Amino acid sequence: MAKRDYYEVLGVGKTASADDIKRAYRRLAMKYHPDKNPDDKEAEAKFKECAEAYEVLSDANKRQRYDQFGHEGLRGSGMHDFSRMNVEDIFSMFGLDDFFGGIFGGGRGRHSTRRAGPARGYDLETTVELSLNDIANGAEKTIEFTRQDLCGECGGSGCAKGSRPGQCPTCRGSGQVARGGGLFQMVSTCGQCGGSGQIITNPCKKCKGTGRVPKKRTVNIKIPAGVHEGQGIRVANEGEPGRMGGPKGDLYCYVRVKPHEFLQRDGNDLIAVVPISYTQAALGTTIDVPSINGKKALKIPAGTQYGSIFRIKGQGLPDVRTHRTGDQLVQIIIETPTKLNKSQQDLLREFAKTENKHVSPKSASFFEKLKQHFGNN
Ligand SMILES: [Zn+2]
Ligand SMILES: [Zn+2]
Repeated sequence: MAKRDYYEVLGVGKTASADDIKRAYRRLAMKYHPDKNPDDKEAEAKFKECAEAYEVLSDANKRQRYDQFGHEGLRGSGMHDFSRMNVEDIFSMFGLDDFFGGIFGGGRGRHSTRRAGPARGYDLETTVELSLNDIANGAEKTIEFTRQDLCGECGGSGCAKGSRPGQCPTCRGSGQVARGGGLFQMVSTCGQCGGSGQIITNPCKKCKGTGRVPKKRTVNIKIPAGVHEGQGIRVANEGEPGRMGGPKGDLYCYVRVKPHEFLQRDGNDLIAVVPISYTQAALGTTIDVPSINGKKALKIPAGTQYGSIFRIKGQGLPDVRTHRTGDQLVQIIIETPTKLNKSQQDLLREFAKTENKHVSPKSASFFEKLKQHFGNN
């Protein structure tokens, strides 16, 4: 789930102006628009990727956070979850309706009728960072994010206290405008009122007529044991409020797994790489290995080879569905001593002499092959 750089997605430089960014987004959104690429999942994914990049780079505050901290910096900023949004909602979100209406022609009738009525709010996405221990046991986490909530001052109407919206002068209340003439007249959503047929004549001071204000929101979510990197946990009704009294969208909390000091995850198994000395490997020993539940004793048999893997049953992570627990795998690496004192060197030299007399079969065949390869000199 590695995210691409937003500037790269839109094909603009880091110093691109707001206009450059808008132009680049429009160009790409057109190129990948699903109307132009029917049944092309890749184009749709690209389209949504562009929308996400545009959401960040077109917003001075989010852009600054992104420039400074990368994707990490946007955590909790209430990003929209484009992967779950439909294409038409993405249009109307960036106010490019008119533009796309013009490009793709009149087939947006259903859009304008939808736009005028109540509609479900947008889904939001955020991330939750989990340790392997959280994943092993399940966890309850407090998530903080910002979302556009209904303005408390005007109740979301966008009108100043005591005022009411007036009829839109452009479409005279119909929400639609006709363009062109004769046979080729096209009907599209009214750009001034966005299809509602009404405009705010006396905007609310607090929300400047938008009806929405950014609000910090804190929710507690239960994380089931065994979740994986990139998995989304849905929190119903914690997205943005709907339009005209429509239901709230959902919040999707995507899992990020913090790296563990010793353990790596492989599915539901955990892997630890543990160094031992070659004397331990040769003679056998019992060592303590790091595990998800503290330390575990592991018996190393005499004659253990570099790279050998031992399995500790049931010390992995639970499967998110079956709850069956994985294993821990311990891979042994053997360290060659780098600092030997005099007496250790003497002992090893003595040992080497004995080795020359009794070379093990495996080594013998290795040296035979080496001789054959390089000639017998
Ligand atoms: Zn209008
Ligand atoms: Zn307001």
